[in-house]
Amino acid sequence: MDLKLHDTLTRKKRVFKPLDPRNVRMYVCGPTVYDYAHIGNARPVIVFDVLFRLLRHLAKQGVWDKGKDRTKVTYVRNITDVDDKINARAAEEYPLLPLNRAIREVTKKTSRQFHEDVKLLGCLRPSKEPRATKHIAEMKKLISRLILKKRAYILDDHVLFRVKGVRSYGRLSHRSLKYMKSSARGEVAPKLNPLDFVLWKPSKRGEPAWKSPGGIKVRGRPGWHIECSAMSWKYLGREFDIHGGGIDLLFPHHENERAQSCQAFDEAEMAKVWVHNGFLQVEGKKMSKSLGNFVTIHELLQTWPGEVLRLQMLNTHYRQPLDWTNAKMNSAQSELEDWVIRIEKVLGKSIGKSRAKTEVSEGLIKALCADLNTPGALAYLRQSAKRIGDDPKRALSFLCDCEFLGLLNRRNMGLLSREFGGQGQSPDLMIKAFDIYQSFRSKLHNKLPGAKLEFENRIRRLGGEVKYLEDGGVHLIQTDDSVGKIDDLIAKRTEARARKDWIESDRIRDELAKMGVALKDTKDPETGEPKTTWEIAR
Ligand code: AMP
Ligand code: ZN
Repeated sequence: MDLKLHDTLTRKKRVFKPLDPRNVRMYVCGPTVYDYAHIGNARPVIVFDVLFRLLRHLAKQGVWDKGKDRTKVTYVRNITDVDDKINARAAEEYPLLPLNRAIREVTKKTSRQFHEDVKLLGCLRPSKEPRATKHIAEMKKLISRLILKKRAYILDDHVLFRVKGVRSYGRLSHRSLKYMKSSARGEVAPKLNPLDFVLWKPSKRGEPAWKSPGGIKVRGRPGWHIECSAMSWKYLGREFDIHGGGIDLLFPHHENERAQSCQAFDEAEMAKVWVHNGFLQVEGKKMSKSLGNFVTIHELLQTWPGEVLRLQMLNTHYRQPLDWTNAKMNSAQSELEDWVIRIEKVLGKSIGKSRAKTEVSEGLIKALCADLNTPGALAYLRQSAKRIGDDPKRALSFLCDCEFLGLLNRRNMGLLSREFGGQGQSPDLMIKAFDIYQSFRSKLHNKLPGAKLEFENRIRRLGGEVKYLEDGGVHLIQTDDSVGKIDDLIAKRTEARARKDWIESDRIRDELAKMGVALKDTKDPETGEPKTTWEIAR
């Protein structure tokens, strides 16, 4: 089956064929980590997660390389951890720390939050998540190449890209010269021409600073656009298959990325296809802090399961503008509840523990292959849901299709049916509590002696109380923020371990053990950094 994608550069839907049939390469501009991600930021994360899943499926099917399973998909999404907004937030939040330390704290905390949020939205981790500050050497190499080719010049300790003479500048964003000139004025820097843009700039006192390229004496830091050119080059090569991001990034960010990369490497193109998601607004208005309609993913997850957010997102085609509303949230929740009831009616609640799988349905893949038509894919799912009836095969196939789209996860489906609820509780608490509930479900149902008491005790140790509803459902009430306390203690222990203070680290482990919390020390597979997870000791 051919995958067709709309390409912003040619403004056409084109059949997608990877440059290397053994390795499909996709780059998506990721978050700037200074605050909780808002629901607009969630849009590209979800959209490109669906595309990633689809590409992996097609690769596995051998669509581009005849032998099955011979193609891999490399999805790179960067983290921007050097930026004026980060510096400002660090100074505001940690006024007593040296700015560099404060910046590290802000970026560490914010990227952790981002990962927690998008995991709950059902998004897979990209193959690589490079951070800008770890790729300064690559950026400087690119800048030096551009200086050598006289595509870049030095002025007042800045390095600027010379746009004049780049014939295809403006072709990607389809902008007129007049528009580009007027919007480029916002960038404060010395320039020979208003269209030129910053590749490198001097750092102010206390700001992150690196030895500058081009023989500039003062230390400096990179401009924003060069980050993505450097990181995509490092992980995906001079030219790759898909470059994605929100439509707001088209100009100047992507136009400039393309100009830099193509000029540095004498390539006609940086990416074969440019894919952009449309903008998201809230209740009919542009989202902004001053209007008070600025919604973070984190806040929404306090009230709604992540799958509900994901369903609302996928109900609109990715290129269309999306109006985010509470009413749509309610209907997405009802729809998912209905689906879970239909599945559990046929397959029973024990399906949560089963590994049974079926192939993803052709009809679903067909819709997605038509420029990622998620409304079409959902229409297909709605039809399948209606056809489940009493047929276990159909129920399993439907569940697998939902799981493929990241809309359901059999392990915690009960959080969606009103069987296990708890409005306003932290999602982490809900998932951990639901895990416990699942291991007690049948014991509770069968009224095994002592089960109820033990279940309640376990939940209490998490900082919750159980309320039994008349319809048989179980409701969780948070009585204290134990999850928050546990996370804080773990963060303190991680710090103690980093400074090799083993006495303090063991003390915290014991304190947590007394709270009934068992720790597991592992390594983050992406960054190699130590990572600690926890569970209630059984
Ligand atoms: P930022 O952290 O602002 O650089 O944005 C990270 C990603 O979120 C980029 O791909 C943006 O295009 C995207 N984005 C930001 N705001 C919105 C919005 N309101 N609607 C859709 N995408 C957005
Ligand atoms: Zn970018």
